Amino acid sequence: MFSKILIANRGEIALRIIRACREMGIKAVCVYSEADKFGPWLDIADEKYCIGPAPSVKSYLDISRIMAAAEVADVDAIHPGYGFLSENAHFAEVCQSSGISFIGPSPEAIRLLGNKAKARELAVKVGVPLLPGTKELVADDKEAIEIANDIGYPVIVKAAAGGGGRGMRVAHNEIALVNGFLQAKSEAATAFKDDGVYIEKYLERPRHVEIQIIADSGGNYVYCGERDCSLQRRHQKLVEEAPSPIMTPELREKMGAAAVTLCKAANYVTAGTVEFLVDKKGNFFFMEVNTRIQVEHPVSELVTRTDLIQAQIMAAAGEKLPFTQADVEVRGHAIEVRINAEDPDNGFRPSPGKITDLFIPGGPGVRWDSHIKVGYTIPPNYDSMVGKLLVFAKDRPAAIARMRRALGEFVIEGIKTTIPLHQRIMQDANFIKGDVDTGYIENVLLAR
Ligand code: ADP
Repeated sequence: MFSKILIANRGEIALRIIRACREMGIKAVCVYSEADKFGPWLDIADEKYCIGPAPSVKSYLDISRIMAAAEVADVDAIHPGYGFLSENAHFAEVCQSSGISFIGPSPEAIRLLGNKAKARELAVKVGVPLLPGTKELVADDKEAIEIANDIGYPVIVKAAAGGGGRGMRVAHNEIALVNGFLQAKSEAATAFKDDGVYIEKYLERPRHVEIQIIADSGGNYVYCGERDCSLQRRHQKLVEEAPSPIMTPELREKMGAAAVTLCKAANYVTAGTVEFLVDKKGNFFFMEVNTRIQVEHPVSELVTRTDLIQAQIMAAAGEKLPFTQADVEVRGHAIEVRINAEDPDNGFRPSPGKITDLFIPGGPGVRWDSHIKVGYTIPPNYDSMVGKLLVFAKDRPAAIARMRRALGEFVIEGIKTTIPLHQRIMQDANFIKGDVDTGYIENVLLAR
């Protein structure tokens, strides 16, 4: 097992990884930018190294600075968290060639599954169902029109290298398609330095259901149930829960098997998520693979009683996972809400600043994954998520009641947060019935 791990990330996920390390008796080293000098998670780390100024490109995305810190701290492994370099095949390669384990997939697996167009090709090959669309990247708008005519509108143009809801455009007709094609391409070129796009059928009002995978190098592939992430704004998740209100044991087994087949075909070792869209009839279609630990992983930890970060560390160290598929049973109900420093009354404008008062909910079945404290100033430079509030209860109604109770206790002063929106969602009749889709928040809840 490793004795020291460097965490190439910040905020709540850095703290989450420190916690996993501590329980395993592993030393945790943090790197941080000048903007994060007072980051509360750094006080808990065993060692910390400043690697540069606030802009991510000069710190959290600067491979040479991170490797220099890894060298000085003499670590065995690097955990990239999510975002930043977590899905960067080159970074995984640099780690490998420096004799440092990358706690994530191999560079080859990232290149294959992390690219949405290539992952689609593989899904076709191994018989995983997916929406009609292109087999290869689309060359120009003429070809885009031909494809759209072939599969029928609406369609969605997506960046192969895309993520975070960027580089995606929905088109209901030819004019929108031509514009959307060019916009998606230029957005992808700027955001991902890769302007490759593809087209697939746009499903109206689907649910987003994803399968959590974890695998070790001994070929033990396990799926830890699903998460329903249908509640989104601008294709960004806001609330996640497990099990999905539409799930049946049969559907779970089918989706789990499809996800495992795909990951096995790519020789994928470590944690990953296979995302699907599900239509009203319960048909599921492969969307993409996230080749990293995801923000919402604790939802699955709660319903399957696993520790996915520890499992990732074990898999990277070449150890066997402490469970097999037969041990993983989905029990109870978990809900996560993302608390973002954003103002829901003002178009979700970022609201960084100093936290002047804080009361964190607790009690039975409540988990708070966050790095914030009173007096801490949230820097404006990074993602607006300041924490994840999770509840766990015996069933969905009890989990919703518990989330309402927990949100009611919450006090965060000094910044605006998404707490009022989550309170609305937890009181919403359709959410309570489990009758929502990926457009629900924008088309219905916020449109009222
Ligand atoms: P990203 O990697 O940028 O997060 P995804 O491919 O995961 O993008 O898609 C994000 C969200 O966009 C999905 O959860 C869903 O709401 C919507 N979406 C993506 N593809 C489709 C599609 N073919 N039909 C309908 N909605 C889609």
